Amino acid sequence: MENVLVTGGAGYIGSHTCKALSQAGYQPVVLDNLVYGHDWAVKWGPLEVFDTSDSASVETVIKRYEPIAAIHFAAYAYVGESVTNPAKYYRNNVIGTMKLLDALYAGGVDKLIFSSTCATYGIPDGETISELQPQRPINPYGHTKLMVEQILRDYDAAYGLRSIALRYFNAAGADPHCEIGEDHNPETHLIPLVLDAAGGKRDNITIFGTDYDTPDGTCVRDYIHVTDLAAAHLLALEMLKNGNKTDAYNVGVGHGCSVREVIDAARRLTGKKIEVVEGERRPGDPPFLVAESNRIRDEFGWEPSYSSLDSIVETAWSWHQKHFIND
Ligand code: UDP
Repeated sequence: MENVLVTGGAGYIGSHTCKALSQAGYQPVVLDNLVYGHDWAVKWGPLEVFDTSDSASVETVIKRYEPIAAIHFAAYAYVGESVTNPAKYYRNNVIGTMKLLDALYAGGVDKLIFSSTCATYGIPDGETISELQPQRPINPYGHTKLMVEQILRDYDAAYGLRSIALRYFNAAGADPHCEIGEDHNPETHLIPLVLDAAGGKRDNITIFGTDYDTPDGTCVRDYIHVTDLAAAHLLALEMLKNGNKTDAYNVGVGHGCSVREVIDAARRLTGKKIEVVEGERRPGDPPFLVAESNRIRDEFGWEPSYSSLDSIVETAWSWHQKHFIND
């Protein structure tokens, strides 16, 4: 069985990708410091608990498992915190990644899939975003991800490390078999917070801005089911194995839903009353963040299967009840 090194494999998107790897016949070898990840989310292969910046330990793991590729999720991802504590973000997301790359190079691992983000685009010019849009991040988190994309292009040219950066839009939902799901602390994302309100864990949900120039005045986002996102990593791995050159792809569905549409779907699917507070805009939120996803569809043959808003909210609600209410 071929091994794949998965940094951050105890996290939300990482753990769903480990499940997909396992279903495809790979063994995911998870490397996670468990600062934000959960050991219960590591079910499909070994867990090595340390930091990606610990090059010596990473090299030991590489020697032991001889992975054919690495998928690098491990990163800090709180936009607000990145503004107040940029050192933490540059140190972990950029320097930590460089140390990981050193270890991969020393261990002869020459294929990498990298978690990038639509936050590298900043405020888009139009309503949808293609890969050709200028990348102008508006916060340190976005800058760290863009810097790594650049580092990866240079490392391919100099050292032959081929990579695919996947620029995620809004990952949401949970494993359809309810084995794993989202559990952030603190939680800042819309869908789990709306479900907290449905489940009685919080009194209401605040809509951050109702006066945007969008159809219903609230922000529009491209919500992609985490299982569809995990599948994109599998396809990227196959593309790299088949000789794909270093590149970056949007991973979004290509259509958006507003905050009000998400809340309405949650009311309908949970059957619960969800109280709404109409609040101020959150700084740095663009009105629209919607992917143009034709490149990954055309070149990888990727097609989302679970990314209707109903399927996202239904799977997230099943997980929410199992994990936060029944456990
Ligand atoms: N949002 C909101 N209330 C919340 C959390 C989020 O209205 O309590 C909005 C947010 O302004 C954005 C959308 O929901 O327009 C998605 O936000 P999230 O933090 O989930 O993801 P982001 O788009 O920031 O990556």
